[in-house]
Amino acid sequence: MRYGNILTNKKATALCAWFIFELCSAAMCIISICKGWCMGVCLMAAVFACGAAVLTFHPSVPIRVQAVALMLMSYINVFVCSMMEESIYHSVAVFVEIAVVLSAYRDTKLLFWYIMLVLSGVMHHIAAMTDINLSNGAEITKFVVRISMMIMALVVLYIFIEGLNTYEKMLIQSVQDAQKAEHSKSDFLANMSHEIRTPMNAIVGMCELVLRDDDLSDNVRSNCCCIRAAVESLLAIINDILDFSKIDSGRFELVPDEFNIASTINAAISMAETRRGSKNIEFIVNVDPNIPRGIIGDEARIRQVIVNLMTNAVKYTEKGSITLTVSQTRQEYGINLFVSVADTGIGITEEHLDKLYTSFYRVDTKKNRSIEGTGLGLAISKKLIDQMGGFISVKSEYGVGSDFRFVIPLKVRDREPFIAVNEPQNVCAAAFLDTEGHGRRTARNIEKMEDMLHVEIMTCDTAEKLKAAAERRSITHLFVSREKYMENQKLIGEFAETSNVYVVQERAGAVTLPSNIHCIYKPFYSISAASVFNNENIVQSRNMQIKFTAPDAKILIVDDNALNLKVAAGLMKPYRMQLFTAESGAKAIEMLRTEKFDLVFMDHMMPDMDGVEATKIIRSQSGEYFRELPIIALTANAVNGAREMFIGSGMNDFLAKPIEVAALDKTLRNYLPKRYIKTAEQQKDAPEPKNEVFV
Ligand code: ADP
Repeated sequence: MRYGNILTNKKATALCAWFIFELCSAAMCIISICKGWCMGVCLMAAVFACGAAVLTFHPSVPIRVQAVALMLMSYINVFVCSMMEESIYHSVAVFVEIAVVLSAYRDTKLLFWYIMLVLSGVMHHIAAMTDINLSNGAEITKFVVRISMMIMALVVLYIFIEGLNTYEKMLIQSVQDAQKAEHSKSDFLANMSHEIRTPMNAIVGMCELVLRDDDLSDNVRSNCCCIRAAVESLLAIINDILDFSKIDSGRFELVPDEFNIASTINAAISMAETRRGSKNIEFIVNVDPNIPRGIIGDEARIRQVIVNLMTNAVKYTEKGSITLTVSQTRQEYGINLFVSVADTGIGITEEHLDKLYTSFYRVDTKKNRSIEGTGLGLAISKKLIDQMGGFISVKSEYGVGSDFRFVIPLKVRDREPFIAVNEPQNVCAAAFLDTEGHGRRTARNIEKMEDMLHVEIMTCDTAEKLKAAAERRSITHLFVSREKYMENQKLIGEFAETSNVYVVQERAGAVTLPSNIHCIYKPFYSISAASVFNNENIVQSRNMQIKFTAPDAKILIVDDNALNLKVAAGLMKPYRMQLFTAESGAKAIEMLRTEKFDLVFMDHMMPDMDGVEATKIIRSQSGEYFRELPIIALTANAVNGAREMFIGSGMNDFLAKPIEVAALDKTLRNYLPKRYIKTAEQQKDAPEPKNEVFV
């Protein structure tokens, strides 16, 4: 109990009491020598002093035992002193002092017994009465007053300690009540998250499955994309509310790991692209290729902040551009990562700037009524950046645009630049586009890339210049704007016979290209250029390409909801694995006993026996198979601490619902036995499997 410890630091009290006792014992030794008392008194005080030190510093002696021992030894010391002096007066103050020291232990029982001891000492003294003249009334009064004062002091001390303890108990009780209330809020949120995510998993999953069908009509495809976009924005709102409550209750933790900023930037741009829809906004991306390849941080949270700033920029900009800049400065501990998102949107007035990071705060709610939002995004972003040890700021001019920026310190594991062209000497590229007007920005970007990537890129704005350039050097890669391609299709077709040709165009209204000409969607930036030069596949569709299959792998999917089983099985179908399903934990255990599986996806919340219980039973079975079998939780409860909870209960990892194809892909790669993974190359000659789902 954290709060209780603040109030009762017993270790420090024990040390304090011991120190005072040692001082008193030393004083007693000195007094006994000075006054010529019997040597036994000095010896006793010295033995007590050593004993007290041993008791205090011995780790196995409980604090209560130390306190009782100190009390007894103090009492004997004082009692012996008063015997030697044949007077109780000197001892009264010392008695009270000891009581004060003992009261630091805040142990009323101990104090009670001490008071009893002192009283018995006083009784003994009254019985002996050697230092008081009973016929002298003044002396008797003095004695009675002193003893009463001492007893009163002890009683007041007792009442004070008792009160303090009661107050502490009340305080601890209220902290416990607050914690209980917080837990019920978290439980409510976890349940709500589960209840909402479960049907959403089915909607997103079904959309994903429908969109995979190549024969869809444009109308159905576009309607399906609208459903997916709507569910994604609903999910984003739920995630914001959950995140906010987690951060607010202090139960939020960062999960730092090594990552490459390339995937973060690509993911943020792709999300912003989806939000942009048909708005006439150009994305410009400037990234420093020297950012180290392996940096350590919570990638998901950094991405969340960038996505939030990018989607805000899209929401509050009607035309013009959005510029994402990612750079770094080297530091002793690694790097400071700098990210800026600048737009040419509606801007924010000075008076609103300070309040932007307040939760649920939205500027100009009347005017911006049509723009959806909860007013939580920036509040969460600020808290995340604060937690990462960085800071976030904004510059904005009303009617002109805004520039949100943040800086975070990150450690570095791999210093190599994250973008590099493998063989720059073998690259001779040309860019064929308008260098003025429409293509001016892209042209300038390409010029920058030349310096950043250390490759030669010739920029030509006419067909004649392009032909002349090709005569001087043999062009390996040709980047053509959509407009130039439309005007010079024949010429570009000829180039495609000897060079790699890429048409750089907007996703909306993109032209269909012949098979020997590739398409690159805007924004065209250094990461996509480096991928092209390195001959790496750039994923140009939001539907992730499945790059491997595992026909020999046996997978068991456990979920009580038949629709969710269908979605999970559908998403895994392209991997051509042998898929089995079970509708309960008990059925899954039964199937595992009779059949060998390579991987289990286990739903968390199921009636009768939930995923955690089922996993515990599976792990308790004898044999290496049950111990080693990878079990991945499928959960709609994406609350904080979920990973620890699942791993603690015997699972290997978890996959959040709605299942993201990229996350599923990563999990399969991580947990399937390597021998089962067949790349596209290895699969070329293999017969098409039946793709059955066994129930
Ligand atoms: P919301 O969900 O409302 O966008 P945020 O916390 O992300 O919530 O933003 C808070 C408010 O800040 C928004 O309502 C909007 O008024 C303002 N804002 C954020 N980003 C921008 C931007 N790029 N341009 C103009 N206004 C912005």
